[in-house]
Parts: sequence; C-alpha cells; structure tokens
Amino acid sequence: MSLVLSRIIAGAWRLDQWQWSPQQRLRWIEDNLALGISSFDHADIYGAYTVEALFGEALALAPGLRDQLQLVSKCGIRLAVPARPGDLIHHYDTSAAHVRASVEQSLAALRTDRLDLLLIHRPDALLEADELAACFEALRREGKVLHFGVSNFSPAQFALLHSRIPLVTNQIELSPLHRQPLHDGTLDQCQQLGLRPMIWSPLAGGRLFTGEDDAARRVQAELQRLSGELSVSATTLAFAWVLRHPSRPLPIIGSRRIEAAREAVAALQLKLDAQQWYRLWRAGAGHDVP
Ligand code: NAP
Repeated sequence: MSLVLSRIIAGAWRLDQWQWSPQQRLRWIEDNLALGISSFDHADIYGAYTVEALFGEALALAPGLRDQLQLVSKCGIRLAVPARPGDLIHHYDTSAAHVRASVEQSLAALRTDRLDLLLIHRPDALLEADELAACFEALRREGKVLHFGVSNFSPAQFALLHSRIPLVTNQIELSPLHRQPLHDGTLDQCQQLGLRPMIWSPLAGGRLFTGEDDAARRVQAELQRLSGELSVSATTLAFAWVLRHPSRPLPIIGSRRIEAAREAVAALQLKLDAQQWYRLWRAGAGHDVP
C-alpha cells in the first residue's frame, strides 16, 4: 500500500522543550489532527533519545488514535550522551544491527507496533547499500516499518540506495534562507522520480521572524510587504513559498503553537505567482537571479 502523509506534517523535535504534561501532549496531537495534520515526524535522537517516549506516553492515553496517524522516525545518528555510554563520539551508523536496534527502540518508545516511515537521518560515509536494503526488506516483511526514505541525502547518495530498494522521500531543509536544494539537483531528482520531499525548518527554525543577520532581515522585510499585499500572515506566506515548488513538498512545522499550524494549513489555499515567489528568493539570496 502506498504511503499518504498529510500535506502539512507536525515535527516533534522540540517536544521535550515544551515542558508539557501527557494530557497537553495528547491535546497537541488531537489539535493537529483536527487541522488535517495527521503525520508526525520523529527521530530516535530527538531530546537526546527522550521525545519518542514523551509522544508514546501521550498516545497511550488515547490508543485508538494510532490508526489515524502516520508515524515517521529516523535513525542512523549516534549521539555521545549519558543515555548512550558506549557512544564516545557523535557519529553515524547505518549498519543493519544498529538500524534494527533503533527501530525496536522507537516502536517501544512510541508504543506502537509499526512505523509508517523510517528515514536514514544523515548520509553515512560507511553506508553499505546492500546490507541496509536487506535490513529494510526484513523490517518490512515483519510489518515493523511500512516505508523507507532518507534525509539530507545528496542526489547521488539518494540514487545509490534507491537503486537497491525503493525510497519514498528525501527529507531536506528548505526556506528562503536555505535555497541550496533548489539548485543542487536535490529537488530536481524528487520531481524526476515523482517523490515528494519532506521539508524541515520551513520557517528556518524561527529565523524567518527573529533572525538578526542581514539575510534574515531582508526576508523579514519582504515577508512583511507581501503579507500586507496578500492579507495573509507571514507564516502562511512562508509555507506557501515552500509548497509552491513543483516537487509538491510536504513541509514539517516545528512550532508548539497550534495557531501557527493553522496558518500553515491556510497556505494550502494560497498559490504564489512567480514574481511573488522570486521576491522571497531574492530577499534570501541578497541579489537578483542571474
Ligand atoms: P520551523 O517550523 O522552521 O521552526 C520552528 C521554530 O520556529 C519554533 O521554535 C517556533 O517557536 C519558531 N517560530 C515559529 N513561528 C515563529 C514566529 N512567528 N516568531 C518567532 N518564532 C517562531 O521548524 P523546525 O522546528 O526547525 O523543524 C521542523 C521539524 O523538522 C522538526 O520538528 C523535526 O521534526 C524536523 N527536522 C528534521 C531535521 C532533519 O535533519 N531531518 C532537522 C531539523 C528538523 P514557537 O514554538 O514558539 O512557535
């Protein structure tokens, strides 16, 4: 069965910082669902390996919700933190043994029997494509992971693994302050293969609003002008900018505020024209297109 993620995805990266009770976390899940945001993005390492369990604890309060959600997680990064005393340096590990152990850990923490999508978090220089593909196949056969993808992979890195096992997405950073994937072949590859990229930090982690560097200030000024012209919020505009790309991206919102999620969903109704889109591109780049 093919994977259908919601058009806007909720990111759980910062969940541990919100200091919420299990009931507040459940409310966040339910409020997102009410907006049509049914896909939730995790990684084993979020919150130094704590976030998945915080989410799972909330989900356990309403286990019937599981079938309405798509749970995405990632693995392949090993952090040197007290919770992992054997990991002496921050490094990558995409060995079958580590991927399998991480998936088992994620399933237990999220209190679910399956991940809808598993991503390799970062390109690992030591990635053995055949070994990893066989591991993915086995996890799929066992019903533990339904679909596979990668994150932050270059087109060549994506092509290598995709030649061994079908991948469904590359999760990458994109915003007017991070335009590289527009021009390095990453999004061209998504469009070529008909695979929708997932987009992290569509608001540049808040820098679109509070950044103090020159590029951030230029984008803030342009966002303000355009949002006045179009009578939409700057958040809606930022999401519309990402959504406008022909690869049909799936942006992941990282805000704790449900109002911000509502403004992101409103962007699904707003199609920027080319001049509006390039005004934000230009603001980020600091110069006109060549
Ligand atoms: P984001 O939506 O670009 O940034 C969210 C941050 O921006 C929050 O701290 C939020 O604070 C702040 N913000 C939003 N609106 C604001 C406003 N109007 N004024 C000031 N601050 C504002 O996304 P992100 O959290 O960086 O990333 C989204 C998700 O992508 C993560 O949760 C994670 O799931 C995923 N991710 C993946 C990778 C990867 O390598 N694959 C890397 C990073 C992230 P408030 O909560 O106060 O609104």
